[in-house]
Amino acid sequence: MKKHNFSAGPCILPKEVLLKASEAVMDFNGSGLSLIEISHRSKDFVAVMENARSLALELLNLTDKGYQALFLHGGASLEFLMVAYNLLNKKAGYLNTGTWSDKAIKEAKLFGDVVEVGSSKDEDFRYIPKGYSVPDGLDYLHITSNNTIYGTQFKKFPKTNTPLVCDMSSDIFSRSLDFSQFDLIYAGAQKNMGPAGATLVVIKEDILGKVSRKIPSMLDYKVHISKDSMFNTPPVFPVYTSMLTLEWLKSLGGIAAIEEINEKKARLLYSEIDLNPVFEGYANTEDRSLMNATFNLTEESLKSTFEEMLKDAGINGLNGHRSVGGYRASMYNALSLESVGVLVDVMSEMERKG
Ligand SMILES: *Cc1c(COP(=O)(O)O)cnc(C)c1O
Repeated sequence: MKKHNFSAGPCILPKEVLLKASEAVMDFNGSGLSLIEISHRSKDFVAVMENARSLALELLNLTDKGYQALFLHGGASLEFLMVAYNLLNKKAGYLNTGTWSDKAIKEAKLFGDVVEVGSSKDEDFRYIPKGYSVPDGLDYLHITSNNTIYGTQFKKFPKTNTPLVCDMSSDIFSRSLDFSQFDLIYAGAQKNMGPAGATLVVIKEDILGKVSRKIPSMLDYKVHISKDSMFNTPPVFPVYTSMLTLEWLKSLGGIAAIEEINEKKARLLYSEIDLNPVFEGYANTEDRSLMNATFNLTEESLKSTFEEMLKDAGINGLNGHRSVGGYRASMYNALSLESVGVLVDVMSEMERKG
């Protein structure tokens, strides 16, 4: 039976990417050797890294604008501290929109003062803070563009002269934005790009070199830039697979093309959540994420029926994060409109039963 994969991360990747990646594991570029058993310094792999880095900038429309793209180890969670290590002299601002920003704040506090410029903790992170003002004298302002767990997403970003740092782990490459408004973007690969194990970091180079502390080489963005993202052995398989996904996205027509599909998917699901009395949304309507839709049953007694029906329809990964409960439909780039249709059919069938 066809599976419909709504998993929040690691998550669905395009079938053709999985096929090409698995072929490369057996025989990379017709070399008779596996991608994962050759030198990362070989000509063929260096070309992969360079292609992945330049595709990332190209898709974000940041080519030749003073930005560098790196593929690093350690997940988005390592960036929580690397950002502060490299950029935080005295004081940084953070918008607290949920678990991930909370974790980023915790790490930053090891390096300096943290001002919580805005927070939606008072309503269990159901909304995106608005109307906050960004104080002067911050080394940077950190935001989480899409809150994977709560299903909220920034639609507008703060206008400020302060360097803007964005954790874009769960919505990078999903919608058109002016990416040049950000000075540093980071994203774990496993939510819209590839397997876990690589993190994309896109940095405007001129924000670096302004802290006085000594930075260990592996945590120093400048070191990674100077070594073309090859300071040590990069995560070769995640980088290769990410490159394939970026090629796939480019061949579809880039971010603008996928955004159109992502909007259709989200519209279809949210209108079902809103019209069907058996379900209620979790996040505030105006702040809803196009990537992760969070919702609950209005009657807990329907839980086993609903989950049985999901299983019968081949729907996977719909459970909400353990800290929120309920359901979460993650609709990353590779998820088809058809899969969302299957979910919506199950939901409307529930209405007839409920
Ligand atoms: C998943 C996620 C993270 C954590 O990513 P790791 O790669 O597991 O460290 C951080 N931020 C956001 C927004 C996420 O969705």
